[in-house]
Amino acid sequence: MLDIRMIRERSEEVQQAAVRKRLAFKVEELMAIDDRRRELLTLTENLRAERNRRTEQIKRLLGENRKEEADQERVIAQAMLGKLKETELALRDAEAAYNRCMLLVPNFMSPDTPVGASDEDNVEMRRIGQPPYFAFEPRNHVELGTKLDMIDMERGVKVGGSRQYVLKNNGLRLHRAVQQLALDLLEEKGYTLLDVPVMVKEETLVASGFFPLNRDQTYAIQGEDKWLVGTAEVPLVSYYGGELLDLTSPIRLGAASPCYRSEIGSAGRDVHGLYRVHQFAKVEQVVICQADLQLAGQLLEQMTANAEELLQLLELPYRVVAVCSGDMSQKNYKQYDLETWMPSRNNYGETHSASLLLDFQARRSRIRYRDQEGELKFAYTLNNTMVATPRILIPIIENHQQEDGSIYVPAALRPYLKGQEQLR
Ligand code: AMP
Repeated sequence: MLDIRMIRERSEEVQQAAVRKRLAFKVEELMAIDDRRRELLTLTENLRAERNRRTEQIKRLLGENRKEEADQERVIAQAMLGKLKETELALRDAEAAYNRCMLLVPNFMSPDTPVGASDEDNVEMRRIGQPPYFAFEPRNHVELGTKLDMIDMERGVKVGGSRQYVLKNNGLRLHRAVQQLALDLLEEKGYTLLDVPVMVKEETLVASGFFPLNRDQTYAIQGEDKWLVGTAEVPLVSYYGGELLDLTSPIRLGAASPCYRSEIGSAGRDVHGLYRVHQFAKVEQVVICQADLQLAGQLLEQMTANAEELLQLLELPYRVVAVCSGDMSQKNYKQYDLETWMPSRNNYGETHSASLLLDFQARRSRIRYRDQEGELKFAYTLNNTMVATPRILIPIIENHQQEDGSIYVPAALRPYLKGQEQLR
């Protein structure tokens, strides 16, 4: 959500953000709705003031025993009351339309966000590590995982339908190992770790900026006002919703949670293996800081570096890309993706996504602080994946495969895998 004054002042920029983010939002419609709301507000206030004035007048006339004049006033007051009720109803509708429309306003974009239509227009910033050279015919993660009895795609689909899977034995160990390594790293960096609800109220999804636009990506729990989150960003941001925070230092939160996504719109895309599934686990970072663009920019770099450190500990080649406008969601101001080399795709695949939202989420969630002058301000929020699994198992299994079909275990993971150096 943005401030309506700012939307009016920078209306062209808001419209440009909508076009570049490929959103249907029209700033002119919002302004027309806002004009109508303001008109009705003024009219309602005037009518209320007029009614009060007449009520006082009637009292005064009655006090002076001028009953006939008081009765005449009463007739006029009665007619006014009808008009007032009508206007109040129209105002209520206009407020509702305004609130609905305000939820569709896109966030601004940083001046350095590349302009583009899709992820193909994202701009590579750096590459770290080299894709491996195999002196044998490499196998994909499903072949390797099935052979090692770590992954069972068939029975996953049998039990849960399409885009479902089962992890077994070392598959499950690896899935949990990467999450624990990610949590331990975050804890070392001063993050507060939380276990959060993944079933949340609709208002929580609105407050964190996921609804209304992401509704069709989200699973509803039948018969209840509850939804399954697609990321722990939702409960982590809402954790401080409505609160006045001390942001002398940024607040750093981390959580491991299951994530559920309907993946509507991706039919036929990434259907092989563990890449795009309905249920996965993610360790997420959320940072809340003062509304200071320079500080927020540094935090975005730090949060990206945290994920890069994890990828380096996993000994995986990756690249960082600046996400372009057309690949950016309504709520983001600036975004980097980390893409890790996946031999079976013969390409880098997205494994992490780091975003700065300015005060977009905090306005909706009403997360505020007092600045040095004592002024109340909305905070800035940021988020990044620390690790998402099973997607990260694809590069781990495929990049570290050996000719005999075993999988090399990077040293950083061994303590979480009973010291195993190879999975076989
Ligand atoms: P996002 O919260 O959409 O920025 O996604 C963060 C990360 O979660 C992505 O970079 C992926 O690693 C992972 N992820 C997102 N959607 C899926 C999915 N449907 N299946 C598996 N992993 C996913």
